[in-house]
Amino acid sequence: SRAVVDIAPSYGLFIDGEFTEGTSTGTGSGTGTGDGLRKTVSPATEEVLSEYTQANAEDVDRAVKAARKAFGTWSALPGAERAKYLFRIARIIQERSRELAVLETLDNGKPIRETRDGDLPLVAAHFFYYAGWADKLAYAGYGPEPRPLGVAGQVIPWNFPLLMLAWKIAPALATGNTVVLKPAETTPLSALFFADICRQAGLPRGVVNIVTGDGATGAALVGHPDIDKIAFTGSTAVGKEIARTAAGTRKKVTLELGGKGANIVFDDAPIDQAVEGIVNGIFFNQGQVCCAGSRLLVQESVQEELLDALKRRLSTLRVGDPLDKNTDVGAINSAEQLARISELADSGETEGAERWSAPCELPSSGYWFAPTLFTGVTQAHRIAREEIFGPVLSVLTFRTPDEAVAKANNTPYGLSAGVWTEKGSRMLKMARELRAGVVWSNTFNKFDPASPFGGYKESGSGREGGRHGLEGYLDV
Ligand code: NAD
Repeated sequence: SRAVVDIAPSYGLFIDGEFTEGTSTGTGSGTGTGDGLRKTVSPATEEVLSEYTQANAEDVDRAVKAARKAFGTWSALPGAERAKYLFRIARIIQERSRELAVLETLDNGKPIRETRDGDLPLVAAHFFYYAGWADKLAYAGYGPEPRPLGVAGQVIPWNFPLLMLAWKIAPALATGNTVVLKPAETTPLSALFFADICRQAGLPRGVVNIVTGDGATGAALVGHPDIDKIAFTGSTAVGKEIARTAAGTRKKVTLELGGKGANIVFDDAPIDQAVEGIVNGIFFNQGQVCCAGSRLLVQESVQEELLDALKRRLSTLRVGDPLDKNTDVGAINSAEQLARISELADSGETEGAERWSAPCELPSSGYWFAPTLFTGVTQAHRIAREEIFGPVLSVLTFRTPDEAVAKANNTPYGLSAGVWTEKGSRMLKMARELRAGVVWSNTFNKFDPASPFGGYKESGSGREGGRHGLEGYLDV
């Protein structure tokens, strides 16, 4: 499969329309914060895929200057002209989606079935969707002449590298902003490939700049005095730090942070359908999903039936080679993430919950964690409160709808929830009472570029996607 996509032995930074070397010297280890070149590995095999550049503050400054220089011309283009570039990018993504899917799976570890059928179609859809808005901003409801903010600094995580890039870059460009984007340190390759797509699309120089590196590079970007907007997706801890840094500056901030979503199953729910939704909710992308349904709240009367069916289903999941089209569950993204998951799962046992893991044989190299569920979980347990960001489901029970709502809302997060019931009135009431940015009804993890996404409470501020996604990039 590696033959499908060309991976260079090493990559520079994409600044002002071309790949350039960084100014740091020395070599980083790929996991440390050293200057110079870093390695990115396949989490499924630990094989080195490529080297890339650790951008330092000077490199970030060059990228911001290029974006600033491009802003005048780009923002002055008629919206219909900007749309043409975005449509072109969307079409090239479709044409090259096989390469991109393989690249993403190699660098991230997620199953190729997901990158091919999930990530890539959604990435293209986001560019098509925001291309459609570029010449219609006067109809977006923000007044006749909404204005772009300027230069956007964008920092994204590793769980959906290309999709998070699309969520950030498509609306920024449609509204006339220019961007400097920093992908996560374990998954830089699809963003660098995207840089090449910008070149192929003839996008004017400096409109999109990609700087690779770790948290230090991210901090240099969000701390740069000449950016107007910070868009961040990642952990709540880093999000809070960014909000503090930006306080009292001219920078506008939107944050998409962590979650601890509840998947709530009532006794009248179609059990087989709910089981599929629960599996999708927490084992999709190895559970490394901000809006994962990581807490299962099941009505007491159907607990036994549901858990039996769920364990049977989990026993059939195929865990292994992410490039195999039949694989359901791939590798954990990094050794660090695996250690975090293992530590939290162990706490579940020491705090008294009962652990059950799907019977499966894990590959001997790479980073792997068997699909796991915990029963006998109370709200005090760490695994019920903290985001695990891995294939671990915590099962709690409830008797009444009010109790379900109270338990679901008993978290500092508020990103997602799912409700399984045949009763429409109950569904609508739950949707009103659950404090979460999205409530799925008899389904889970469904996305559409036209639908806004974002968090209540500590899950973040601002929305991405839909008409609301324009708002974070406009002054009205
Ligand atoms: P992270 O916060 O460690 O890293 C995210 C990005 O921020 C990376 O690119 C990283 O290099 C960069 N970064 C780290 N320290 C920084 C700093 N001090 N200043 C600026 N940038 C810095 O998060 P992660 O572990 O990569 O991602 C997992 C988290 O992301 C989870 O908590 C998950 O819930 C969240 N997430 C949220 C959404 C959403 O839409 N709400 C989507 C995906 C992931």
